[in-house]
Amino acid sequence: MNMAMFASSADPIAPAADPLDYLADVLFHEMGSPGVYGRTALYEDVIERLAALITRHREPDTEVMRFPPVMNRGQLEKSGYLKSFPNLLGCVCGLHGTESEIDAAVSCFDAGGDWTASLSPADLVLSPAACYPVYPIAASRGAAPAGGWRFDVAADCFRREPSRHLDRLQSFRMREYVCVGSPNCVSAFRERWMILAQEIARDLGLSFRVDYASDPFFGRVGQMMAVSQQQQSLKFELLVPLRSEEKPTACMSFNYHRDHFGTAWGITDASGAPAHTACVAFGMDRLAVAMFHTHGRNVAKWPTAVRDLLCFPRNDQ
Ligand code: ATP
Ligand code: ZN
Ligand code: MG
Repeated sequence: MNMAMFASSADPIAPAADPLDYLADVLFHEMGSPGVYGRTALYEDVIERLAALITRHREPDTEVMRFPPVMNRGQLEKSGYLKSFPNLLGCVCGLHGTESEIDAAVSCFDAGGDWTASLSPADLVLSPAACYPVYPIAASRGAAPAGGWRFDVAADCFRREPSRHLDRLQSFRMREYVCVGSPNCVSAFRERWMILAQEIARDLGLSFRVDYASDPFFGRVGQMMAVSQQQQSLKFELLVPLRSEEKPTACMSFNYHRDHFGTAWGITDASGAPAHTACVAFGMDRLAVAMFHTHGRNVAKWPTAVRDLLCFPRNDQ
């Protein structure tokens, strides 16, 4: 029976045949919600090898920080997220009432009612990108030094964009290198990484192209923000044709924020001007899916050069 026949076309998460679906059974375990998956050992092993490869390319004097999947709501608000992607944000809620109010909510559930009406927002949101928490931390350290600061950050990220496509998850891992400093050092950082990232993608045997991109800013004002972002070449993506050449998947992005975070957080560079920032983001789950789609579900049969790059044991084959 074809499930798609029963799905209403208005349902944005309707099951539909997708070129990546054949990977699902070896990579993921269903968890009851689209874009939220348990991961198999096979998949996690590749994720870890990709992460180690990215680590081996870390520039000297880069400070490593790992963030939890949640962050302070006020910090994300201050970073301007609600002006850009309010539609994607997930906010932590809890039963914050008195004991009797909480009892009433649970009784409501027991009686088949809607207990969630009693929820109220906590001071936490689900981090939509790995780099947001780093700017307030940098701000607390005073002015950036002449050569800027470099950070290596990672987090489990959440974006409320439910989809059946295996390359568009709601909960996914993001690794980023971030630079904070003068305009020159920050743009040089992004230039270096745009070249290096392509070398990495080539070595991994991926087909790709790098292109200008814009973020899907929310609403009509957002459309103008996207045009201006593209005109100023503030965002590039490394695109891998996973489901089609026309709609390739962004597996990495190279983002120049100019003084957006520097101004929001009062970070200054060595000259006292608002610091500029840039980040290079690796979509770890998308990269892993791209590897399986490109080289097949059996890692033992991946090209030797790719296996060597990912440090698979040689006697495995
Ligand atoms: P897209 O245009 O595909 O929505 P994006 O521009 O929103 O991507 P960024 O905000 O630049 O993506 O996030 C950095 C990286 O995180 C992306 O290049 C991608 O590899 C990964 N990523 C973003 N959204 C998702 C998602 N929903 N599922 C899996 N990976 C994602
Ligand atoms: Zn970032
Ligand atoms: Mg997006």
